[in-house]
Amino acid sequence: MKLFDDQIPFMKPWVGDEEWQAMRDVISSGWVSQGPVVAEFEKVVAEYVGSRFAVAVNSCTSGMHLALRILGIKPGDEVLLPDSTCMANANAVMMAGAKPVFVDIDYQTGNLDPAVLEKYITPKTKALLGVDQVGIPAELDALAEITRSRGLHFVDDAATALGGKFKGKRLGGHGFPTTFSFHPRKTITTGEGGMLVSDDEALVNRARVLRSAGANVSDLVRHSAKGTIVQHYDEAGYNYRMTDMQAAMGIVQMKKIESILAQREKQARKYDKALLNVNHFVLPEIPDYIQPAHTSYFVKIHDDSPLTVTRIVDELASRGIASRHGIQPLHREPAFKNENYQDEMYPMTCKLAERSFFLPIYPGLPDASQDRIIDELLGIVKNQ
Ligand SMILES: *Cc1c(COP(=O)(O)O)cnc(C)c1O
Repeated sequence: MKLFDDQIPFMKPWVGDEEWQAMRDVISSGWVSQGPVVAEFEKVVAEYVGSRFAVAVNSCTSGMHLALRILGIKPGDEVLLPDSTCMANANAVMMAGAKPVFVDIDYQTGNLDPAVLEKYITPKTKALLGVDQVGIPAELDALAEITRSRGLHFVDDAATALGGKFKGKRLGGHGFPTTFSFHPRKTITTGEGGMLVSDDEALVNRARVLRSAGANVSDLVRHSAKGTIVQHYDEAGYNYRMTDMQAAMGIVQMKKIESILAQREKQARKYDKALLNVNHFVLPEIPDYIQPAHTSYFVKIHDDSPLTVTRIVDELASRGIASRHGIQPLHREPAFKNENYQDEMYPMTCKLAERSFFLPIYPGLPDASQDRIIDELLGIVKNQ
């Protein structure tokens, strides 16, 4: 089946022979499940982001679920999260048994607006699951300050933002539990996969236990002891393990991360330059202390423009270019129909969903393809 034809796709993983070779080596080794290569991948990521520990898991969703569970989130609790994010965030909260409470965002950056956060806090609120949306680090200092002063836990979901920096320091290095995804749409990929990083040794140790069925020793430890160790289960756990094949791919991807980020940055600058003075568009204004990972590039249609996202996305598609509608509000999903959320509670999330779209941005996107995307987009604007 041919998945990538002569159209310009929305994204494409940047993988090649090195990943293939590394995965072959794992397969030849005879140890394909979670083992030594996962441990090595964890070390590489922890060091890169500046965290003491990292726990590899099979998805970012699993990582968030583990973090919330270990912090003691339980049925009856409320967890704040942005309304403008993917279902995975709400899923992780509900997997912990808690109720997701959606928070409106800042229209400028698409991230949480610390100024409105307090409005959503009730006596049942136990945590904030913050999100660094579409590769842009959120206002971490303000969010950390509010959660600290209100006695709430703060988990940062940096699924899309590995390599992004807040005030000079990489996400994951700011001291609160942080999660990353290795789905192909994120900075680096292992096909599927995720990582929970933290400086808290007790949290990390428990995450390792819950990741692997609740067993107090890992398969690798038992294997190394030639079966002389018998594992115990102090509590029920999950199977959230990553395989060594995926980790091998991840280690190779981490060697390329600076090039991946640089290519994305260059493409973002090129879009910025081409679109900055187009009256119909508004580009996100990111404060200079925030360095995005550029895993997405989003454009907003100016309030006074008659253009619509549907028209732009459909016209680009008819010209062989894939783009995407902005993030749709979670509160509107049928899964939450019994909660009686109203659009009026989320004006900025609704507006962003209606007025924003995403353009292709990924390592390996040829210059000529990006030029064509820009030309076609400007052509649509001109015909307006
Ligand atoms: C992609 C994404 C996730 C989910 O990651 P998985 O690895 O697919 O579980 C979570 N949060 C955000 C913000 C994402 O963009």
